[in-house]
Amino acid sequence: MTRIFLTTSWDDGSAYDARLADLLDRVGVRGTFYVPGHAAGAPRTDGAHLRDLVARGHEIGSHTRTHVRLHRLPLADAQHEIETGRADLEQILGTAIGSFAYPGGECAGQAVAAVRAAGVRLARTTAPMHNRVPTDVLRVPVTAQIFPHSRSMLMRTTLKRSGPGRLWWLLRHAGGWQRLAAAALADCQMRGHGVVHLWGHSHELDDLDLWQPLELCLRELRSAPGIVPVTNADVVG
Ligand SMILES: [Zn+2]
Repeated sequence: MTRIFLTTSWDDGSAYDARLADLLDRVGVRGTFYVPGHAAGAPRTDGAHLRDLVARGHEIGSHTRTHVRLHRLPLADAQHEIETGRADLEQILGTAIGSFAYPGGECAGQAVAAVRAAGVRLARTTAPMHNRVPTDVLRVPVTAQIFPHSRSMLMRTTLKRSGPGRLWWLLRHAGGWQRLAAAALADCQMRGHGVVHLWGHSHELDDLDLWQPLELCLRELRSAPGIVPVTNADVVG
């Protein structure tokens, strides 16, 4: 039986998260919103807003306290950033937060060790062009960013973060994020299982007028046979 997870994640917290959540609800797709601790409680991502997202079936994940990139920090400092950022959110929500996203996608150096030491259950990177169920829950990759990257930028990022095998995949399916999402879905359908994981920043949807293209893309993915819309946490069970 075909079973393909469709998940989305949204970083940094912004005033546009509410509009985005409405869009996700309309198309029947779930999101994980990664919010830095220092942004939580600010007017743009106040407690009521975060609690409302959870009540509607979305997930809140942590993203450090100050959005510092972890790969150059000493282990103890990195762990402190992760733990305090998570505690900020847990205080607001009154529930445990298990998912985490690396600021800037930086998971080199001590970052993974810090995340492990902090007891994070799932850590999302920004390694692109992936569509399999992740085997390493502390290095959960993505399919594509909702952003009109140039071809050369996509190639550089893919090679750096995901390696030559995924660069080859990108070159075979060259195109923007809609095309890459469709190619990932096709791979999952052929295999009978997998994950299509789109991510972005809600303020960029507004800056770049991507609301409608995103809604169209998600509607198409959502209507494919065997699609199961889930949060990031659900992907790794
Ligand atoms: Zn971020």
